[in-house]
Amino acid sequence: MARPDRRVNLAVARTIPPFLLCVCVYACYIVTKPLCIDYLIRPLPKYSRGSRVGAGIAILVIFYVLIFVVIITYLRLLYNITRNPGFLPRSSPPTKEQQETEPSERPQRRKRKHRRTRTAEKPDKADIDIERGADGNADGGAIPLDITGLESFYTKDVFVCQEDGRPLYCSTCCRYKPDRAHHCREVDRCVLKMDHFCPWVGGVVSETSFKFFIQFVFYTLIFCVFSLIICATFTAEILQDTGGANVHLAIGIGLSSLFGLFSFGMTISSLQLAMWNLSTIENLNRRSAVWTLAIRVPDRMLARLNPESRWAPTFRTITYPLPPVPLSPEAARDYQPPEKQHVFAILQTLPGENPFDLGSPFKNLQQVLGYSIIDWFLPLRQSPCADRTTGDSFYELGPVVSRLKKEAGLNPPPEPQPTTQNDTERKHKRRRSSHRQSQE
Ligand SMILES: [Zn+2]
Repeated sequence: MARPDRRVNLAVARTIPPFLLCVCVYACYIVTKPLCIDYLIRPLPKYSRGSRVGAGIAILVIFYVLIFVVIITYLRLLYNITRNPGFLPRSSPPTKEQQETEPSERPQRRKRKHRRTRTAEKPDKADIDIERGADGNADGGAIPLDITGLESFYTKDVFVCQEDGRPLYCSTCCRYKPDRAHHCREVDRCVLKMDHFCPWVGGVVSETSFKFFIQFVFYTLIFCVFSLIICATFTAEILQDTGGANVHLAIGIGLSSLFGLFSFGMTISSLQLAMWNLSTIENLNRRSAVWTLAIRVPDRMLARLNPESRWAPTFRTITYPLPPVPLSPEAARDYQPPEKQHVFAILQTLPGENPFDLGSPFKNLQQVLGYSIIDWFLPLRQSPCADRTTGDSFYELGPVVSRLKKEAGLNPPPEPQPTTQNDTERKHKRRRSSHRQSQE
């Protein structure tokens, strides 16, 4: 499906928030004046009905509480989208030498061209050149070998990489992209765990705002269902009494049905994505996506990587830090790698596997909504997945990565179990009884 033009998206994004505000003001008017005041609390003579003050006040209270919650979640969402959108800073373009030099230590990329599979990072044909940068150039043209900014990747235990072991590169922003980051055409920046560009909220929904987006569409759904029920009920009553309908209430039915259907679809699809631990972009090719991961080889297993070792690894490796570029043949000969090296195995998932799926929908939901019921329903705290304080990987990883490690033999050998007090007592008892038996 063709994606709408960038300028159209931006124009719609600027128009829709004020339009939504007008709809809210009009909805307040419908429920307050024509429905509650003119029909329930102080009925106009044309309705020939008695006053129902209790019902009118109850409807007003529930309606304003619900619209207040919708507005609060919308403002929270807007705040994060404008003040904390998860954009990544741009870098300066690599120098000409960096683009043209390819050190001999790097894996042979061109030989493996025929093995290239569809990867999780290529959701949309139009984005391929941007996402993969010059690396996606079929003619093997300029390859950026910028090594700046790699430290934040190789100091982790696992990160998403290209087939040569380097992280994914954005040639527009001239930087390596953390796991799950995606280049957004509308804002022309890489965005952390970008979900989609949403014209309804006028910006990019990403890891910092996805939780508030779910809460907003969920509360909008409840608000629309309530509005639809009251508008439909009293329209039916008025029709029965007078034979005609109130125009404002009829428009209320139309608006609440329209926004209700829309928010229902968005709530279901967003919750489903959160339960699968996927973003909208990752979901586009979730059945065929193959993730290439760089998984750290534990230091104590490095000796086994020696080609003369009896343990023959079945995977390719990459060693960080990469040598500086450009590196002439003489300089390459004299190059002394730093003492502290980080060796990574380059492993691939099976098509359709998601390394970020934690194995249960509930655990995946917790990554977005939070760990307590308050977090789930109140738009206060950030999603746990946006927390950057844990250091092993950019996002929590699930059973797929554990399996890859196990298959590649990268799991550390089990620690010997410390002897517990019970074990010692049992041993003593056994020894005492055998000693008694031998005395008898
Ligand atoms: Zn970018």
